[in-house]
Amino acid sequence: MTKTFHDAASLADAADWRARDLAVLWHPCTQMREHDDGLMPLLPVARGDGAWLVGHDGSRTLDAISSWWTNLHGHAEPRIAGAIAQQAHTLEHVILAGVSHPPAVMLAERLLAIAPRETGRSPLAKVFYADNGSAGVEVALKMAFHWFRNRGDEPRRTRFIALSNGYHGETIGALSVGDVPLYRRTYAPMLMECLFAPSPDAFAARDGQSAAACAEEAADALARLLDDHAGEVCAMILEPRVQCAGGMRMHHPVYLKRARELCDVHGVLLIADEIAVGFGRTGTLFACEQSGVAPDLLCLSKGLTGGFLPLAAVLATQSIYDGFLDASRERAFLHSHSYSGNPLACAAALASLDILRDDGVVARNVATAARMAMLAGPLADLAHVADVRQAGMIVAFELTDGGDRRRPFDPARRVGLRAYRAAMARGVLLRPLGDVVYWMPPYCVDEAQLALLARVTREAIVEATR
Ligand SMILES: *Cc1c(COP(=O)(O)O)cnc(C)c1O
Repeated sequence: MTKTFHDAASLADAADWRARDLAVLWHPCTQMREHDDGLMPLLPVARGDGAWLVGHDGSRTLDAISSWWTNLHGHAEPRIAGAIAQQAHTLEHVILAGVSHPPAVMLAERLLAIAPRETGRSPLAKVFYADNGSAGVEVALKMAFHWFRNRGDEPRRTRFIALSNGYHGETIGALSVGDVPLYRRTYAPMLMECLFAPSPDAFAARDGQSAAACAEEAADALARLLDDHAGEVCAMILEPRVQCAGGMRMHHPVYLKRARELCDVHGVLLIADEIAVGFGRTGTLFACEQSGVAPDLLCLSKGLTGGFLPLAAVLATQSIYDGFLDASRERAFLHSHSYSGNPLACAAALASLDILRDDGVVARNVATAARMAMLAGPLADLAHVADVRQAGMIVAFELTDGGDRRRPFDPARRVGLRAYRAAMARGVLLRPLGDVVYWMPPYCVDEAQLALLARVTREAIVEATR
């Protein structure tokens, strides 16, 4: 009999599993040689249970990074699993061009109802579906570009402004507006040219400068960039509040407020990429709320389905939507993905939104985040921790040589990788970004799990920086 994937017995032996995996898989975001060399462990997971990942032998590992920031309510959450199963027995997928189905319509209604609002600004009014975050960013960029083209009066508005140290995904357009060198540099010759404004990152503030002052200074620089280039620019894209892939660098909410004002003054569209920070991650349902602004285009993905299925939604204002209405098909937004608006993914998203509402998750997260702050605080005293920062359910520890903010570790020391290995050996999946160790747990994480997380993080940092 052929061994199946579900034949746990055949995979119980970790070494056997590893060999089978490495014989056939090419893992994402991985230098595969580090697996071959045994430098990078490979964690076999049989099932998920809340914030736990469970191995075939029953061993438990805490998913402290919500599986790349997708998971909100825990793994295998029964309400979401049930909603997907029910939908699968009803309508698994159907083309969304020329066809309508309840999950797509109901999810759009729900998203528009909860999207960030700003007094005096017309609200986000239409939802366009894609099937992953990068694709959602591509949609927003193309919409902004095409909207100006359709207006016809400003043919020179073809460029984008993005933030230095920003991240918006891996596809060519999304990578073009990203500025994390590790992902970008190799492909630079393939990318479109983008204008980068300085990041408002508070960690980069001058000594004694407040986060707010640092954000104001970055906004002043954005103002100068727009003065010089606004006529060429169709949109500005940014990650509100936290530049996640850029090392969980956080900024004061005043930056987004200023950026919104400046975009308005210069007639530039504002794209908020809340793919990582949306759905309660930074303490409010959407990070834009902390700045009291609404964007022209809002990108959502990752936690949108509670971490169950790939889906992205791009929310647009009525004015943007109206700009595509015409007798000509070329003026329409002809972008499409085969799985646009997939009913299973929409059903998962609806179930996740129900949980966010019915369980009062955003309010509960306030208490969880306070607990995280209490546990994280003492780690600031470790010799090589230069900064401990938090935005709601994200806590980051910046590791530097001697804890000096301006002296990063020599990358060859692989401090982050060593912390990863040390934590993994102690039953916690931490996946540092460079030398930034961070917590971004599922919202269902409990006191005992947080205590474990804090203890293991301390031990991992000590071991990695020794
Ligand atoms: C992860 C991420 C993306 C890309 O989403 P994928 O689904 O991984 O393609 C885009 N923007 C931000 C801010 C992200 O964190």
